[in-house]
Amino acid sequence: MFGLIGHLTSLEHAQSVARELGYPEYADQGLDFWCSAPPQIVDTIKVTSVTGQQIEGHYVESCFLPEMLASRRIKAATRKIINAMAHAQKHGINITALGGFSSIIFENFNLQQIRQVRNVKLEFERFTTGNTHTAYIICRQVEQASKQLGINLSEATVLVCGATGDIGSAVCRWLDARTDVADLIYVARNQERLQALQSELMRGKVMSLEEALPKADIVVWVASMPKGVEIDPTTLKQPCLLIDGGYPKNLSKTLKHPGIHVLNGGIVEHSLDIDWKIMSIVNMDVPARQLFACFAESMLLEFEKLYTNFSWGRNQITLEKMDLIGQVSVKHGFRPLLDLC
Ligand code: NDP
Repeated sequence: MFGLIGHLTSLEHAQSVARELGYPEYADQGLDFWCSAPPQIVDTIKVTSVTGQQIEGHYVESCFLPEMLASRRIKAATRKIINAMAHAQKHGINITALGGFSSIIFENFNLQQIRQVRNVKLEFERFTTGNTHTAYIICRQVEQASKQLGINLSEATVLVCGATGDIGSAVCRWLDARTDVADLIYVARNQERLQALQSELMRGKVMSLEEALPKADIVVWVASMPKGVEIDPTTLKQPCLLIDGGYPKNLSKTLKHPGIHVLNGGIVEHSLDIDWKIMSIVNMDVPARQLFACFAESMLLEFEKLYTNFSWGRNQITLEKMDLIGQVSVKHGFRPLLDLC
């Protein structure tokens, strides 16, 4: 049995989902209500691999909302994640992905120190961040979508916004080692971590986002921003490929401008329909087949009976692990989303 711990992208999103699912009493509630709401299993999932193997899982809604961080309700935010993990474990789930901000909160607030949640002693080997598969899928999206657009990587500058993060640093390492990309630009806030990445890879430039955007042929967005940013498309190169892997999205709105192509980053498409409801709630274009790569990681670990925290901690993702998860991803019928808009 696999599990997925997820959350919605904003209070407004949570209210509209509650209304849609027929819970009007939840739909009218503000942030305080969501701060006290307990985790819930809201979906049961059946996935069939192209090998014919079938697995079952559960989606656990943590009731975390990004506004909890913005309004400094840190205790509520951390409680949501730890309670959702205990809930998953209590229901006998072998391997659970910590989707979106769940793993970011776990790391940033040192939740590994909390082992006991009421009568549940958390077993961290039952959880994975899913970031190895996410990083692998984003790298394949860079390679394949650039080809579709006629952007030659050997002449291209790739900007990674969130470059020092778990996913961002893995993407930078892969692009450096596995492609002939001409140049890399790293964007984040903490200068020390940026310098460390530059020294590790012995290449690439550190710049502010404003300075970097006009120089990039491809932008990978993997910053942990609770709210997306607005950018001026007229300052970008043409063509320019923007791969937005943030959840919530790093770009606040869909850009429609000649020569600018946006791709939903870190998303995979399965070859067969998945029996679930949850992906229509997060507005996937093809909800029966498309999903977050981090969620797919827990499915892959369940298919392979790899009951281990495959992705854990920060900046530990190796190219070998990306290769391994990439191979099983293909084996079970997942592929990177390549629908450009
Ligand atoms: P991390 O916390 O490990 O890294 C976040 C990175 O973003 C760091 O480099 C951080 O550096 C940078 N950052 C944060 N805020 C800003 C800002 N305002 N401007 C520029 N850089 C910023 O996060 P992850 O790598 O785990 O996740 C990254 C994103 O990917 C998140 O949005 C997450 O929800 C999403 N995600 C998507 C998945 C999918 O399946 N599609 C799966 C898992 C995560 P600094 O603090 O120095 O600025």
